[in-house]
Amino acid sequence: MILLHSLRRLAAVAGLVGLAAASAVRADSVNTRELQVRELASGVYTIRHPDPTDDFPDGNTTVVVGEREVLVVDTCYLPSSADADIARIRQWTDKPVRWVVNTHWHNDHVGGNHRYRLAWPGADVVGHEETRRMIAARVPSYVRRFLMPDSTFGRQRETLRRTVDSGIDEKGKPVDAAARKAAAESLARLERARSEFGSIVIEPPTVTFETGLRIDLGGRIVELKHLGRGNTGGDVVAWLPKERILVAGDLVDHPVPYAFGGYPGEWIATLDRLAALDPLVVVPGHGEVLRGKGHIERVAALLRDVRRQVNDVVDRHGGSYPLEEVQKAVDLGAARRAFAGDDPDNGEFFDASMASLIRVLHAEARAR
Ligand SMILES: [Zn+2]
Repeated sequence: MILLHSLRRLAAVAGLVGLAAASAVRADSVNTRELQVRELASGVYTIRHPDPTDDFPDGNTTVVVGEREVLVVDTCYLPSSADADIARIRQWTDKPVRWVVNTHWHNDHVGGNHRYRLAWPGADVVGHEETRRMIAARVPSYVRRFLMPDSTFGRQRETLRRTVDSGIDEKGKPVDAAARKAAAESLARLERARSEFGSIVIEPPTVTFETGLRIDLGGRIVELKHLGRGNTGGDVVAWLPKERILVAGDLVDHPVPYAFGGYPGEWIATLDRLAALDPLVVVPGHGEVLRGKGHIERVAALLRDVRRQVNDVVDRHGGSYPLEEVQKAVDLGAARRAFAGDDPDNGEFFDASMASLIRVLHAEARAR
């Protein structure tokens, strides 16, 4: 799969990405080509987007409508996806969007910030102070890399174009008509992203906070909370205390946890704090909307188990025991089945995510 192979490469190279998927039971896939809109409560909507390119999924967007104004959580990877959401919001309400919240700095959650500010000039982008810093520092360089011919994206574009033009794959082998058509569609998505990134305006938060911010939309309260680090240094969740809806960003992805980078040691305690809110509904950063806190607790238990196993191996064999041996020693069989089910894409993503987690936990254990 291009998606997964590329995701691994990108996650390693860029330290970015978040990944979606869905329930193992429902056999959803990490590839999402469909739009899903759900109304979670009266005036509270979540939009799940099709993946904008083969390499990058899109974050979920949540819209909370109050009597006076509207709050939006996360703004997609591409400005055009945000524009489509803005058109949807205008159909749902004539109230203005006043607050645009970024759960964290990754591209797939902040790319449309500027589009909201164009649509509603009175809107503020809100995030953790660390998110403001990281958007300003990292997102422009990501966009520049994307546009460079000798980058991963540039090389991928050339490969796809060759396949489309000549029917020959990157190994010089002929491909069938279906594969050639799929390459053409992948190339079209990549070209669309390129054309949008050529003029994208990166807009970091204009309002920042360190621990929390309570927003009254008129008859509806949203509490923005930094409950600790996990996926990034500035993770923020949106909590609707009355409706008990938690919008979790990539601290919680479904079905496979996203463990590329971040702060896995601190992530466990942060997840415990999310579960302690006792949400009725959880909107993950990617994937299906979830009922209750069960998935959060399962992810925390998985992280605890992997950390315990890594510590045991290092205690037994010492800090110089090679990482490859530690990777082999950690038993993830039951967890892989529980989180990824039978879906090969989810399984592959689970393996890559856990390998990254073990690498970071191993470095932590050695440093003690
Ligand atoms: Zn994400």
